[in-house]
Amino acid sequence: MLTDVEIAQSAKMKPIVEIAQKVGLDEDDLELYGKYKAKISLEAIKKLDQNEDGKLILVTAINPTPAGEGKTTTMIGLSQALNKLGKKSVVAMREPSLGPCFGIKGGAAGGGYAQVVPMEDINLHFTGDIHAITAANNLIAAMLDNSIHQGNPLNIDVRQIVWKRVVDLNDRALRHTVCGLGGKVNGVPREDGFDITVASEVMAILCLATSLEDLKQRAAKMIVAYTYDGKPVTVDDIEATGAVTLLLKDAIKPNLVQTLDHTPVFVHGGPFANIAHGCNSVMATQLAVKLGDYAITEAGFGADLGAEKFLDIKCRQANLNPEAVVIVATVRALKMHGGVAKKDLGNENLEALKAGLGNLEKHIENIAKFDLPCVVAINAFPTDTEAELQLLNECCKKLGVEVAISKVWEKGADGGIELAEKLLNILETKGANYHPLYDLDLPIETKIETIVKEIYGGDGVEFTKKAKNKIKKYTEQGLSQLPICVAKTQYSLSDQASLLGRPTGFTVKINDIIPSAGAGFLVAISGDIMRMPGLPKRPAAVNMDIDEDGKIIGLF
Ligand code: ADP
Ligand code: MG
Repeated sequence: MLTDVEIAQSAKMKPIVEIAQKVGLDEDDLELYGKYKAKISLEAIKKLDQNEDGKLILVTAINPTPAGEGKTTTMIGLSQALNKLGKKSVVAMREPSLGPCFGIKGGAAGGGYAQVVPMEDINLHFTGDIHAITAANNLIAAMLDNSIHQGNPLNIDVRQIVWKRVVDLNDRALRHTVCGLGGKVNGVPREDGFDITVASEVMAILCLATSLEDLKQRAAKMIVAYTYDGKPVTVDDIEATGAVTLLLKDAIKPNLVQTLDHTPVFVHGGPFANIAHGCNSVMATQLAVKLGDYAITEAGFGADLGAEKFLDIKCRQANLNPEAVVIVATVRALKMHGGVAKKDLGNENLEALKAGLGNLEKHIENIAKFDLPCVVAINAFPTDTEAELQLLNECCKKLGVEVAISKVWEKGADGGIELAEKLLNILETKGANYHPLYDLDLPIETKIETIVKEIYGGDGVEFTKKAKNKIKKYTEQGLSQLPICVAKTQYSLSDQASLLGRPTGFTVKINDIIPSAGAGFLVAISGDIMRMPGLPKRPAAVNMDIDEDGKIIGLF
């Protein structure tokens, strides 16, 4: 079997102008970044307003194992298969961050014969969006520190600065730093630290913005610090709104690339799926909806985090109307949910598979709470046995849910035909009536309790004193009508990573609530959420190289 990067390198790409033509965009609508990448101009996007909407389909998954369950791979393969069936399908997906790429996970442009190319570019600097976000975020930090240095006219309490600097790498040594050392001319010393760029609220607002103007309004509202008397200080207060927006003038435009089968893909934006909503940009999703008869998109982590936020935050804010959901499940992950250790996943184990099925079952039930039909995609791995695949297939049928075994990783479009047909079938036969899970007018506590009880299957929520105080404060400040973005472990339906399968009888502890005022949600923090990952003992980076001809190896 070839590696992902070898498969990608052997693909013969078509010029991006040709890919654009397939969905009715001409060269004037594009801003070319070389021969195989382009941004879509804002004028072109405005023109598409009159186009009819295609059907929006979300790809999500069961609770993941550390390696990822193949959502991106399945989404790309599904779109390839739909195109093979003669349907106009367009993907909208997230752009990879350099941190995980050089850390454990490697690239994030799909895998096997279901990939987006040029994968080396997409996984590395791509069209520079993430660097622009880094610059915009750090300009805010620089202007904030400068305001304090220049006499602190805004009365900023240096102990209550909530805006971190960012870099798009996994670098644990930067989590806690001190800045402003070196004497009077070098700023005011204070404790600081770095987050990874994709955790910046700038990434979240870029992904939720519907236009440059909307982006500007969101940027203005982001909270950077508090004054000595506890009042929020915003980006607008430090007069950075205009400069921040102009740094993002190109980053806001969705990027067009292609799958191995030359079908169009928008790769744009990639916020964290815990402290942010974990979906690609609204503008890319809207483009896919306007240009494709079928727009396929994904959300990060499992359905308890990704799908819930897609449906309760992104679709609600952007007036998107999803019509079906694909839940990706793997034999490997379900066996883990059934108690098998990671090292034993290669052995057939039908009992463990059955024992882990509750996790999938819960996610299927959850999607029904949004009145959306779903189909389960069993992402087949080379280590799965036929007996395991068939058992899982049968179990899904018993649950009364549509199911297909997907072999897109191994076979590309051909491996996704069954999945594509099942999806088309539910789109035709099962009505969708999307609505969010909870009403925005409910009190903050009730909204969080609704998510915990309905989606996670918990008994209730325990709020710390700090969280309770924050809820009181935000309610007084008029922020209580914002949707909730829960930050919790992705590995479990609960807030404890070790509770696999379908846990019951647990409560979720909320330690803190943080407003993302620009993004327009309240982050409810459960557990310790990492905003700057570290590298593992042997990072993926140690296996990467480039030869004198520019050929890249080791990028998975
Ligand atoms: P997710 O989007 O859920 O994080 P990805 O689609 O990025 O997952 O897949 C994670 C990794 O697993 C990738 O390296 C991909 O090549 C690999 N992978 C995905 N599906 C399969 C499969 N069916 N067999 C083998 N490897 C797979
Ligand atoms: Mg992915």
